[in-house]
Amino acid sequence: MSQKRILIVGGGFAGVHAAIGAVEVLRSASGSAVSVELVSPEPDLVIRPRLYESDLSGARVPLTGVLGSIGVRHRCARVTEIDVERRTVQLDDRREPVGFDQLVVAAGGRLALPAGTEVHSADTYTEAVALRRAIGSVAREGDPRPGVIVVGGGFTGLELSAEIASGPECAARSVTRPTGAHVMLIEQRRELAPDFGPRARAVIDGALRALGVEVRTGVQVSEARSDGVVLDSGERLDAKLVVWSAGPRASALTDQIPGRRDRLGRLHVDRFLATEVEGIWACGDCAAARVDREHVAVMSCQQAMPQGRRAGENAALTLLGRPPRGYRQSLYLTCLDLGAFGALLTCGFERNTILAAGPGAKEFKRYINRSRIYPPASSDPERVLEWGRTPPSGSALAALSRLALRSSAIRRRITGSAEDRASVFGTSADVDADLSRVAA
Ligand SMILES: Cc1cc2nc3c(=O)[nH]c(=O)nc-3n(C[C@H](O)[C@H](O)[C@H](O)COP(=O)(O)OP(=O)(O)OC[C@H]3O[C@@H](n4cnc5c(N)ncnc54)[C@H](O)[C@@H]3O)c2cc1C
Repeated sequence: MSQKRILIVGGGFAGVHAAIGAVEVLRSASGSAVSVELVSPEPDLVIRPRLYESDLSGARVPLTGVLGSIGVRHRCARVTEIDVERRTVQLDDRREPVGFDQLVVAAGGRLALPAGTEVHSADTYTEAVALRRAIGSVAREGDPRPGVIVVGGGFTGLELSAEIASGPECAARSVTRPTGAHVMLIEQRRELAPDFGPRARAVIDGALRALGVEVRTGVQVSEARSDGVVLDSGERLDAKLVVWSAGPRASALTDQIPGRRDRLGRLHVDRFLATEVEGIWACGDCAAARVDREHVAVMSCQQAMPQGRRAGENAALTLLGRPPRGYRQSLYLTCLDLGAFGALLTCGFERNTILAAGPGAKEFKRYINRSRIYPPASSDPERVLEWGRTPPSGSALAALSRLALRSSAIRRRITGSAEDRASVFGTSADVDADLSRVAA
């Protein structure tokens, strides 16, 4: 039997979980001659949800550990071309194309930064580190004028504004004494935090006010420079630093795959995460996957992980001649970091059912960012596969359990199937019991 290859493009959350999903399926078919390889230009899994944070230590995890332990080869290269007819990809570090039998596209997305300017962003690890260095000098100078302008009031723009205004050494509860830079947040839509429902918006509004963030809504930036922005009205706003946080787009690599796409450039996929080209799957930020009858996935780690897993499983199942499995994920939580105020935890796609706000929600945010989404430090393949299946829990889940079980009102608000809940919170015997009580 000739060796077949599943090639995964992208070493983010979707790509790593695709590798785990594929390996798990192949393990169940002893003697299958299939190799799983993952291509990405960096040697690390970047913990992107942490890139707004002041302290970025540990925000990169070497891919060799997690992939090597389950026998997945990592090629440290960038895919420059996908030939869907020949079923090959071209890498930037070699002449010969690399063939594939099944391809999983998990190349993520990027912010569309304004061309030709020196604005900052927190979209990649390198950008986030550069931003932190630059903010350090702004905050220290203690100038009362707006030090930092953040453009874009989406999820990341809100977290960045709160974090920068809070200052690095400002702990939750000390909201009355933020020590960070003076921040102005600019949002083109009419209201602050337009992606949230009115109840959640009121919390966000209060938190940003307490942190002294100046908010301008309903204005559009027509020009961004390193030292300020020009609005479409012609008004010029000076700042020491401009941080761009608007306009995410699917990776340009997806342009090479024929088929429909959404307004963010994400590839249309069916319920199995198959693109319109046979044998090519897409997941994570570069796929417009339906999570249930009504909703399409948002660009989120929370959805990239289970999607990656399913896409990897389906690539492997197809090679084994078995039917693919459908993807569905009806539970959706957001946990928005609001700096020294704490955080805001909501449930549901309307982002309006508040489960917790303030320091308690921050505890959950820390659990997600520092524990829940990390692969195990161990190189034991069983632990890595277990992480891919349902994330590790134990103490990790304690924060949520405490939060969720604190009041019956919260209990009633957590929706979704047991599988969905496990994919977000993890499982362990006692937590499972807690969560089934929540569901009851
Ligand atoms: C500041 C910030 C805060 C966030 N907060 C949250 C949050 O609270 N909750 C949440 O759920 N989500 C959050 N997100 C979003 C989340 O990080 C992304 O949705 C998630 O990382 C998407 O995973 P992915 O694997 O699809 O893409 P990515 O993580 O972007 O990974 C893409 C991978 O593809 C590789 N790649 C790209 N092009 C090529 C190429 N040509 N060849 C080979 N490899 C390529 C990249 O190098 C990378 O390894 C946040 C993001 C940011 C930036």
